[in-house]
Amino acid sequence: MSLAPGSTIGIVGGGQLGRMLAMAAARLGYKCHIYAPDELPPAAEVAAGFTRGAWEDEAALADFGREVDVATYEFENIAAAPLAALAAQVPLHPPAEALAVAQDRLNEKSFVAALGGSPAPFRPVNDRTGLDEALAALGVPAVLKTRRFGYDGKGQARIMRPSEAEEAWASVRGAPSVLEAFIAFDSEFSILLCRGSDGETVIWPAPSNEHEGGVLRRSRAPAEGLDAQVAEAEALAREAAEALDYVGVLALEFFATSEGPVFNEMAPRVHNSGHWTVEGAVTSQFENHVRAICGLPLGATALTGAWVEMDNLIGGAADGWAAILADPAAHLHLYGKGEARPGRKMGHVTRVFR
Ligand code: AMP
Repeated sequence: MSLAPGSTIGIVGGGQLGRMLAMAAARLGYKCHIYAPDELPPAAEVAAGFTRGAWEDEAALADFGREVDVATYEFENIAAAPLAALAAQVPLHPPAEALAVAQDRLNEKSFVAALGGSPAPFRPVNDRTGLDEALAALGVPAVLKTRRFGYDGKGQARIMRPSEAEEAWASVRGAPSVLEAFIAFDSEFSILLCRGSDGETVIWPAPSNEHEGGVLRRSRAPAEGLDAQVAEAEALAREAAEALDYVGVLALEFFATSEGPVFNEMAPRVHNSGHWTVEGAVTSQFENHVRAICGLPLGATALTGAWVEMDNLIGGAADGWAAILADPAAHLHLYGKGEARPGRKMGHVTRVFR
C-alpha cells in the first residue's frame, strides 16, 4: 500500500541524515516530523514538526507516533523496546530487526558470515581474560571494538602489540566488545542499495571511500578497478536485504583485499558514503529511502556524470565555505550545526565530473 504525498513521515533522529531525508521528502510533497533529544537538531530546522524526547522515553515516542503516518530512523543507538513499541503503533521501515542486527557488531558479523560473507576474523570479548584469549587466537595487529554504540571510529582501539591489551581494554571501559584482525586492505568501498516494499531492489554505483582517524573523509563513485569485488559485495548486500525483509536504504562497508571483499559493517539507513547521490545520481539515496518507506516505485540510480567526488567538511573545514562557493562546480551542503568541534561532520561538498 502506498502512502500519498501530503502524508507525514516520522524520522527518529535529528542529525544531518534526517535533515537531508526531510528535504528530499519535502520535494515529493511529504511532511516530516522529527524525534530527537536535542533542543533544535539540524533535521528539525527543515521539518514540519518536532517532538523533543529522550531515546528511551516510550511515552514521548508514543506521542510522536500519533503524529505520523509512517516512521523511519536515521540514528542507530536506540534501544529495541521503545522502537518495538513505535513499530506496534505505526509502520516502521527499515524493520526493527535490521537495527537489532546492525547495532551490535557481534550480531552483524555473525549475520553476514551466516549468509556466506567474509567479515574480518573476529572473536567476542567479554572480559580482560577473554581479550588475551582472543589476541592469542587472532594475533596482532588487531582492533578492539565495542559491540554497541561505536561510530566514526569511536569505541575502538588498535592493538599493535600484546602489551597494549591493557590500555585497549581500559579505552573501551570494559564494555562487551569484539576483537577483529587488522585487515591490510588495498582500499575501502561501500554498497548502497534500496529495497522497496514489493522487494524491488536498486543499487547505486559503488563508491570508494577514504577514512581518516576512523571518520569518512572522501567518497568517489564509481570505485575503479574493483568490478569483481563490487559484484560479490552487491550479491551479499542483496541477500542481507532479502533476509531482513528490508525496506529502505541499506549500506554495507567493505575492505577491498587481494582475497576479495572483507565485510566491515552495515548501516540500516542512509549513509555518509551515499551523500554524493544528491547531485551525482538520477535519484538520491534520500529520495529513494522516502519512496521505499512510502511504498512508491524507486528511481534510477545511474550516475549523472562520468564520476563524482564527495568531500566531508569536518570540524573547522566548513569555515572555508566562501572558497568552496568560489568553485562554480561545487555543490555545498552545510548541516546547520552550531559548534565546529574537531571530528564533527559539519557539511560536505560534491563535484560531478563529466
Ligand atoms: P568502523 O567504525 O568499524 O567502520 O571503522 C572505521 C574505519 O577504521 C574503517 O573504515 C577502516 O578505515 C578502519 N578499520 C576499522 N576496522 C578495521 C580493521 N579490522 N582493519 C583495518 N582497518 C580497520
